[in-house]
Amino acid sequence: MKNHEGEEATHRRIILFPLPVQGHLSPMLQLANILHTQGFKITIIHVQQNPPNYSNYPHFTFKPIADGFSDIGKHMPEKPDPSFYITYRNEHCADSFRDCLAGLLDEPDEPPVACLITDAEYYITQEIADSLKVPRVVFWACTIVSVLVYRDLSFFYDKGYFNLTTKDPEYEEPVPEYPLLKVKDVIKTSTNPYGMGIFQTKVMKQVKASSGIIWNSFKEPEEAILKTLSHAFPIPRFTLGPLPKYLPSSTSTSGIIFEQDRTFFSWLDTKAPKSVIYVSFGSIAGITKSEFQEAAYGLVNIDIPFLWVVRPGMVKGSEWIEWLPENFLEEVGDRGRIVKWCPQKEVLAHEAIGCFWTHSGWNSTLESICEGVPMICSPCIVGQPIIARYVSDVWKIGILLEDGLEREGIKRVLKRLMLDKEGEEIRCRINALKDEVNISFREGGSSHRSLQSLVDYILSF
Ligand code: UDP
Repeated sequence: MKNHEGEEATHRRIILFPLPVQGHLSPMLQLANILHTQGFKITIIHVQQNPPNYSNYPHFTFKPIADGFSDIGKHMPEKPDPSFYITYRNEHCADSFRDCLAGLLDEPDEPPVACLITDAEYYITQEIADSLKVPRVVFWACTIVSVLVYRDLSFFYDKGYFNLTTKDPEYEEPVPEYPLLKVKDVIKTSTNPYGMGIFQTKVMKQVKASSGIIWNSFKEPEEAILKTLSHAFPIPRFTLGPLPKYLPSSTSTSGIIFEQDRTFFSWLDTKAPKSVIYVSFGSIAGITKSEFQEAAYGLVNIDIPFLWVVRPGMVKGSEWIEWLPENFLEEVGDRGRIVKWCPQKEVLAHEAIGCFWTHSGWNSTLESICEGVPMICSPCIVGQPIIARYVSDVWKIGILLEDGLEREGIKRVLKRLMLDKEGEEIRCRINALKDEVNISFREGGSSHRSLQSLVDYILSF
């Protein structure tokens, strides 16, 4: 049944519909690659914004559809948040998605469609799939625990969590329903909790109505949550991840949206093992001018080499690095490199990398675990505060910068992780988790078995 050359050994087709943001698109294309190796023919429906690079996937068929995103400016609220963008996208792509899917189901010369796999956040696709009688399986792009927090977001809103401030004692306390998380972690997931609650309620309703859910995670670290989920989501569940693990680090599917810089590798090659701090806040998170400057001072004030990804536009209101503190580049000299975007998986796999200062995006976290690189967590929005809490307090494979971006705090945490014994202990724990990932991928391991079950399940449709 296995096939990499494009021969459709199962004689079945799978249609995937990813969200056009790096952290969702990249793992879904990895999932598509995995399903292709299992003998399925792959068709990707995608919206026009941030299209996948077709030339990286000559073995897939792509179908672009309209999503009205170019008109979004006319509908923009004063303070748009992620729930606004994704709700808009859902509402404006429904008709073109339906037409496209109906056309794909009616292609007599193509193999029959086994199922549709969509990002969980495309909630409109469930009713469309039902009306066209094609099973829909959802892909959840974040950590497993986040699905429960999102499911309960409106409940937390009604409880008044989002009215709390740092001065309220409850702010620092554990969430009674999820004692591993703090109330402040839930608060930080959303700048518009009311809107996000409404959006997530729609998502959860359609996840429950779906034919199954695929997690980009692996069983071992999230075992306790998985048990709770069997009651909350009584549909077939597959923990297939970490998806980055299926492809060698050098296979870069990551440069999907931004062009990658590789010029720093000759510099990185000169650095001692585990001596360099890698800093990146992913593809969406934004920071303020003062946070950017504090981060810069944090890096200047400790004498450790660093590679810093500053994505153009990441610093709100600026083009790129024009707000670096005066003399920053002169002071740092050859000790540091700043790039716009890099092949992150390859960087994390480089022996010179000693820690990853991250915004705690789920893909970044998984990629770090796969390479055994301890993390410093500076979460910004959505699932990131939840992931960061798990990384620091539950799995203990990193340190959370609890007080945000402030130069002295940053220096202290960098020292703890890069120079102190505590850092060594954290490194041991993340290496143990990395070993668990490797075991889960072996014959009989949890992710390996989950993939086999998913393939059998899809073939049963
Ligand atoms: N990434 C990359 N190069 C960079 C920074 C990030 O290839 O310079 C990739 C990274 O490997 C990861 C993705 O971008 O796969 C970011 O996803 P994540 O879920 O961590 O965060 P998001 O961008 O969704 O906030």
